[in-house]
Amino acid sequence: MKKFKIQIYYFIHAPTLAERRRTVNFLLKFNLFFVIIMRMKKEKLLLLSCCAPCSIGVITDLHQAGCDFTVLFYNPNIRPEAEYIRRRDENKRVCDELGVPFVELAYDNAVWIEATKGLENEPERGKRCDQCFLLRLKAAARYAKKNGFTKFSSVLGISRYKDFDQVCRAGRLAATEVGIPYDETNWRKNGGEAKANRLSKEKNLYRQTYCGCNPR
Ligand code: SF4
Repeated sequence: MKKFKIQIYYFIHAPTLAERRRTVNFLLKFNLFFVIIMRMKKEKLLLLSCCAPCSIGVITDLHQAGCDFTVLFYNPNIRPEAEYIRRRDENKRVCDELGVPFVELAYDNAVWIEATKGLENEPERGKRCDQCFLLRLKAAARYAKKNGFTKFSSVLGISRYKDFDQVCRAGRLAATEVGIPYDETNWRKNGGEAKANRLSKEKNLYRQTYCGCNPR
């Protein structure tokens, strides 16, 4: 936090363009422009998370910058249920250790099966994923709107195995249908994925070997 304040001071008072540019690069590296805007506008963010390894970097950054945010765990796509419980508990552990609010919505794989009916043989990144993202993001949007958040976002696109634009499309659709803004920050950029991997190793987090809906 102290480092963050120092950088803001330098940005405002930098005597040369080169020094100002150096400060901008620092802020970009840590996704801090997003954080600055949040703090200036007194935003309250709901962050949909799929698992601890994907979200730990973002949660740590937002927490260190003093942002007002809550982590939402809504993943009825994960199966079997024992796997769901394992991922949920690991994500909650990360939040508890930092003192970040963690909310879970009820797990019901039957809801996900219904939402993706007829798309069972689609490849990952295909039409089944469209419906999977939309189901989870709409639930997040509804929860955010009902509970006084100013916007919602997700880490569903942080992994290189995911199509970030596909996640954003679902986020925009959910935002329009529910009536609350979806923040499209690309958490993978500026070393976001590498940071998540490093922190996951440091914390010895459980890391799954498949997205969620396999094995069938
Ligand atoms: S591969 Fe992942 S994102 Fe796609 S439908 Fe399955 S659980 Fe959902």
